[in-house]
Amino acid sequence: MGFFDELGSTISRASSKAAKKTKEAAERARLNGELQMEIENQKKLYEELGRLYMETHPEGVDLDYVELANKIHASSFHQNELREQIQDLRGVVVCPNCGAESKEGTAFCSHCGSPLPVKPAPAPEPEAPVEEAAPAEPEAAAEEKPEETDAE
Ligand SMILES: [Zn+2]
Repeated sequence: MGFFDELGSTISRASSKAAKKTKEAAERARLNGELQMEIENQKKLYEELGRLYMETHPEGVDLDYVELANKIHASSFHQNELREQIQDLRGVVVCPNCGAESKEGTAFCSHCGSPLPVKPAPAPEPEAPVEEAAPAEPEAAAEEKPEETDAE
């Protein structure tokens, strides 16, 4: 069993550098999978909506339609959330006009020139004044003392 333990630790040591990237890729795959499921889910809801519409009389507003419409809206919202998470992981922004991908932080779409949405900075820089850069004063004051004694 010792051999396999050693082998295992060797493998884990060798792959520790790649672990972060693997984790990121796994997260991306998970989000992509969830997004595909959400799209499929929405397709089914649209089918159901169409069937319901055909099966019932189109006179007046049926509550079933409202419920389905809400589910479809929720699905679209969730899809956008998943897309944004995937874009964040990839470090890209998607042009709201043409759908082309640009590198995050780009002001204008490289494809159509439309202004790109500016994402809020993940770590906002503090505007506090930098007062830490002046601890040298006590030293300067200490240097003056011996000069005073020399003068006397
Ligand atoms: Zn564009």
